[in-house]
Amino acid sequence: MSGSRLAPCALAATLLPFAVLPTVLSAQSGAPATPAVRADAIRVDADPRVSALVAGVSQERLQAIVTKLAGFGTRSTLSDTVSTTRGIGAARRWIHDQFRSFSPKLQVSYDRHPVAQHGRITRDIDLVNVVAILPGRTPRRVYITGHYDTVNPRGTAGAGVNNTGGAARAAGGDAQMRPDMNHDADAPGANDDGSGTALTMELARVFATSGVDFDATLVFVTWAGEEQGLVGSMAHAQTIAAAKTEVTANFNNDIVGSSLGGNGIIDAESVRIYSLGPEDSPHRSLARYIQRVAGLYVPSHTIRLMAREDRFGRGSDHSSFTAFDFPAVVFREANENYNRQHNSEDKVEGMDFRYLAQNARVNAAAAASIALAPPVPQVTTDRGVVTLSRGLTGYDAALQWQPSAGAAGYRVYWRPAWSNDWEKSQYVGHVTRFTFPDVSIDDHVFGVAAVSADGHESLVNAYVSPVRRMQPVPLRK
Ligand SMILES: [Zn+2]
Repeated sequence: MSGSRLAPCALAATLLPFAVLPTVLSAQSGAPATPAVRADAIRVDADPRVSALVAGVSQERLQAIVTKLAGFGTRSTLSDTVSTTRGIGAARRWIHDQFRSFSPKLQVSYDRHPVAQHGRITRDIDLVNVVAILPGRTPRRVYITGHYDTVNPRGTAGAGVNNTGGAARAAGGDAQMRPDMNHDADAPGANDDGSGTALTMELARVFATSGVDFDATLVFVTWAGEEQGLVGSMAHAQTIAAAKTEVTANFNNDIVGSSLGGNGIIDAESVRIYSLGPEDSPHRSLARYIQRVAGLYVPSHTIRLMAREDRFGRGSDHSSFTAFDFPAVVFREANENYNRQHNSEDKVEGMDFRYLAQNARVNAAAAASIALAPPVPQVTTDRGVVTLSRGLTGYDAALQWQPSAGAAGYRVYWRPAWSNDWEKSQYVGHVTRFTFPDVSIDDHVFGVAAVSADGHESLVNAYVSPVRRMQPVPLRK
């Protein structure tokens, strides 16, 4: 990699609207409508190190991992922990040993939390996440995660859509709250969330054996207690928040391994990414980042961004991260089959491992890119004052930001204030302030990303004015 990549990037990128170039390209070539590299994509050329990582994802290994996980019968958080063949204890020991077998570079541990009885945790337990850490040059963290626990609230075969949320509770209360629930009932969880667990494990192997020297520390976690209310991820997130751990991103994957919806619709070519708003939240910034990087490294896969925290009335472990303002998203397959969730039918037969591998490649490309990039530049003072002004003339856009460790330069982004995605960008070099003459900060949104010497960009950090807090007007009696 050489720094000279930046100059042509910056030239090509300047001031071209996002939507124009790809349309022209596909019209000329007559090629299928795969996402083309955008004019001002994060890099206009792929980094061969990232391409090699993406190519290293093994569909066969993903299949073998999911098959093994489903073979534990159930991985319910409240299931047997002693058996060597069935239940969550056997499953987590196997995941732990797999992580250890991938590479001596991985620091593998059980992340234990003594959780008191509450809600769906109907007795005191030691809740155990399994963690594999690949140290980078800096301690800030990029997480790739899925939950290895499963659930079958009815403790019976079949069941169907009523297993997926409000309807079940409306029909007869929350079965998981009942002290007599059978936690040993079959809950193979091939897709929910054997798919996300396998993806996390496979990426741990690919990253740890890549030989790439990442700036950020990669953290691969398989959570427990998701089905009881995101308990394992929340216990972890509150612990790292208390320790003031810096988190650059969380790529959470939950139900990402089937291309056949329960309505019969097949879609093996797209994946949904949900992110909590508002539009300039760090979570939305991460979602846009993944879409752009995927276009560069996995152009055969379409990223469908969803401007909401998750599917209607449902959730996953990314919300434990957003609760502490750690940038986080969740990947969800294009079309779900609710008849194969939270019951004994979530089996390997319902999986599409080619599709799961594609989703793993998108995660690999974006996580590697963000881990190679510098940390996101701060666009406020240390006291939280937004460093965007109208400049000396009173009519300019004057941006300032704090330097990002290791950055070779910065790229500024902007768009009209009604638009929800960046429309223009400009590489501005190794500076920490930049002024656009006669551009209104009232009519445009601005953001800044840090760029490494080899062209990898951080998330874009937007200048957001604080919400005005209104006080009630005191009225005389
Ligand atoms: Zn799940």
